[in-house]
Amino acid sequence: MTADKVITGATVVTVDDKRTVIRDGAVAISGRHIVAVGPRAEIEAAHPGAERVDATGQMLLPGFVNLHVHCALAVTRGLGDDLGGAPVYRKDIPQGVLLSPADTSTFTSLGGLQALKFGSTTVVENYIHAQTNVAALDELGLRAVVSERVHDADLFSVRDGEYVYDADMGKRLLEANAQLIEDWHGHDEGRITCHVGPHGPDTASTALLERAGELADQYDVGMFIHLAQTKGEVAQVRGRTGTSSVRHLADLGLLGPRLIAGHCAFLEDGDAELLAESGTNVCQMPVVNAKSGWIAPVAELRRLGANVGLGTDHMVHDMVEAIRFALCVNRVSDGGPQHIAAMDVLEMATIRGAQAIGRAHELGSIEAGKLADLVLVDLDGAHLAPVLDPVANLVYAGQSSDIHSVMVGGKFVVRDREALTVDEQAIVERAQHRAEELWRSIGGWRPAGVAGDCRC
Ligand SMILES: [Zn+2]
Repeated sequence: MTADKVITGATVVTVDDKRTVIRDGAVAISGRHIVAVGPRAEIEAAHPGAERVDATGQMLLPGFVNLHVHCALAVTRGLGDDLGGAPVYRKDIPQGVLLSPADTSTFTSLGGLQALKFGSTTVVENYIHAQTNVAALDELGLRAVVSERVHDADLFSVRDGEYVYDADMGKRLLEANAQLIEDWHGHDEGRITCHVGPHGPDTASTALLERAGELADQYDVGMFIHLAQTKGEVAQVRGRTGTSSVRHLADLGLLGPRLIAGHCAFLEDGDAELLAESGTNVCQMPVVNAKSGWIAPVAELRRLGANVGLGTDHMVHDMVEAIRFALCVNRVSDGGPQHIAAMDVLEMATIRGAQAIGRAHELGSIEAGKLADLVLVDLDGAHLAPVLDPVANLVYAGQSSDIHSVMVGGKFVVRDREALTVDEQAIVERAQHRAEELWRSIGGWRPAGVAGDCRC
């Protein structure tokens, strides 16, 4: 097939089945797809008329698949981080229903911009007001899998330590998720797809979880859920159902390859086996979990054969940071370096993420026939020298600022560290202005120099 573009001269890290790395390689692209991968001379000779993109001295990676983001929670940056725990369980953070659709759009643009510039070509996004958030992600040019945050526990009551369920709320949010699927699933030849997003086994009642599963069946889409995320969640589910969070989902028939289970930090006896045997995809959030002081038992899950990918949750959507954290925290939790190496965490961020969203046949590696979701990384920084094994260099020494260009579906969306799709400065300024207003409105922030209790 004739290529319209050839990215040439890069070290191509394919993450194919053989984990092939091609030095002085090239990738030919036609429209949205990769049509050939190989040595530079061979690919250039086969596609003489194609536009040349000189990537000499750079590394070409498959785009990162970030399995869990709440882009709008960029609003928590700085003031939310030291408070501990997930924002949804806290009262003193401007989030959730305190944000209007315009607000979540503002902060989704900011969070999505971070993700894109730092090499995520796919994000699995879940938050309130998904209909407006998806438009912001679409505008950025990201590939996104989006769901509404569906729950029927009144989150105000949860923050006060009790669970009050409201069936009408659950129905309304599930209907919003269904409408999202109707409006956006498959948009732009599948660049935007949708999931069903029950928030958690504590914040969604058993009846709502069942209906969420039925909705996923009806539209044949995947699901995301926070699972064994906190001790409080696990205790609440056990008190309500008499079993663990994971077994509760198993009993409802919700585990399986279509489900991404986020966190899985507080697994109980037998839970890891249930996740692995059912083919459930586990999304580890190494940075946000370590920030909170806990971590998922990834070594055990991997030994049992579970598919484990990575997410950034409400932290900065920096997958270079995430892969290094994943390597380090999993070695700490497993007592040594035995079970995980640099290529393992790169796999988590690419092909295993693609598998988790059911799209390993078209994403997650650089192979002919797959979508051209690609990331070019500069290798000439002093902090990366000497470059002998570029994958190890990226994992142990790389910075997200080394990411030079990002392509989604054959189209560059970041070039030379600049987003091509949006006005970056306008996004940053809008978010800064609104974050100040929102934090001030709940009494959580005053500008420096203003008298009073200041946490700035
Ligand atoms: Zn989350």
